[in-house]
Amino acid sequence: MKAVCWHGANDVRVDNVPDPKILNPRDAIVKITSTAICGSDLHLYDGFIPSMKSGDILGHEFMGEVVELGPSVKNLQIGDRVVVPFTISCGSCYFCSRELSSLCDNSNPNAWMAEKLYGYSAAGLFGYSHLFGGYAGGQAEYARVPFADVGLFKIPDGLTDEQVLFLTDIFPTGYMAAENCNIQPGDTVAVWGCGPVGQFAIRSAYLLGAERVIAIDRVPERLQMAKEQGKAEVINYEEVDAGEAVKEMTGGRGPDSVIDAVGMEAHGTGLDALYDKAKQAVRLETDRPTALRQLIVACRKGGYVSMPGVYGGLLDKVPMGAAFNKGLTFKMGQTHVHRYLQPLLEHIQNGDIDPSFVITHPMPLADAPRGYEIFKHKKDKCIKVVLKP
Ligand code: NAD
Ligand code: ZN
Repeated sequence: MKAVCWHGANDVRVDNVPDPKILNPRDAIVKITSTAICGSDLHLYDGFIPSMKSGDILGHEFMGEVVELGPSVKNLQIGDRVVVPFTISCGSCYFCSRELSSLCDNSNPNAWMAEKLYGYSAAGLFGYSHLFGGYAGGQAEYARVPFADVGLFKIPDGLTDEQVLFLTDIFPTGYMAAENCNIQPGDTVAVWGCGPVGQFAIRSAYLLGAERVIAIDRVPERLQMAKEQGKAEVINYEEVDAGEAVKEMTGGRGPDSVIDAVGMEAHGTGLDALYDKAKQAVRLETDRPTALRQLIVACRKGGYVSMPGVYGGLLDKVPMGAAFNKGLTFKMGQTHVHRYLQPLLEHIQNGDIDPSFVITHPMPLADAPRGYEIFKHKKDKCIKVVLKP
């Protein structure tokens, strides 16, 4: 089959690789009909996530049709149309039974690697390095899905791929980011980053009852989408100091909650951003927390800091004094996708949201190298790439 393979920083290729096979009784093989490139894939593309190997198959946002089932999968049938949560979860461990599926204890065969870095391992992830299990991803014609009885979610008829594909990741991620803000009536939520995750965080904040959403980025078409389609008030952080602007827009008190939809590869305009770039280049710092620093300082006293943006290692000069003295609450992590699939599918069916709004670049799987380049550099007004095998 054809698959998008990682061969080093800024080098992905569409290779011919062996078809996946059923390995365990709870596995399924899915023939992929749509798959997307995520901001998280850029961290791999840019070479910031350790333990990638040349030839690893990328991709964790994918859906398709069941073509093969292991003998223990009783709740699905060949031909079922399914979406696949990007986190791999067994469905029955301590964490899965508490609806914390991205923290599954049984899905990372390389848990020892993560334990060295993090103390304990989170769940395995599709196409996301050996540290997270070394699973082949879904930017391919076929994928093996472990724990398929809980890892595949059947889609009712009448919905397009484009409407349901993002249930695999970015819609639940934006939604959990907003949920982690503990939104109360009258609240103002400020979202740093207007990429796909930021766009879903903006919509979700309104779905959860926010009165105002303020969105921060520097890419004109992303700000425009946030404003015109998302109904957010927007700030271009290259034109003004975003922290100061947010404070002013909230009567000097600050937003009730702040969302970091940027993550470890933030850009910046200040001195601290230069410092991060230099330290990251010589591997003295793993992540560039420019946006995180700013939003911690901007948040009102007693507010919520929600971090869907991915961090991998050690962060410098994060203002913990500000966080402590303002009594902030932090929530973060990979999304517990399984928990959100059914309720968010209902939002789509009810017409509350049509997630296809974010797609700007549908293209054949064979064009994936071009897709990565334009998504990374935000060329051609790209917001989200969907690949069709
Ligand atoms: P993206 O790269 O398309 O978007 C990031 C946006 O942040 C860009 O538009 C960029 O211009 C903007 N930005 C950069 N520096 C900024 C700054 N200092 N202030 C404000 N905006 C800034 O990526 P995406 O797909 O939207 O993903 C965003 C983050 O969410 C990534 O870190 C990704 O890994 C993460 N993510 C996490 C989960 C999860 O489960 N927690 C799931 C999906 C994605
Ligand atoms: Zn993703």
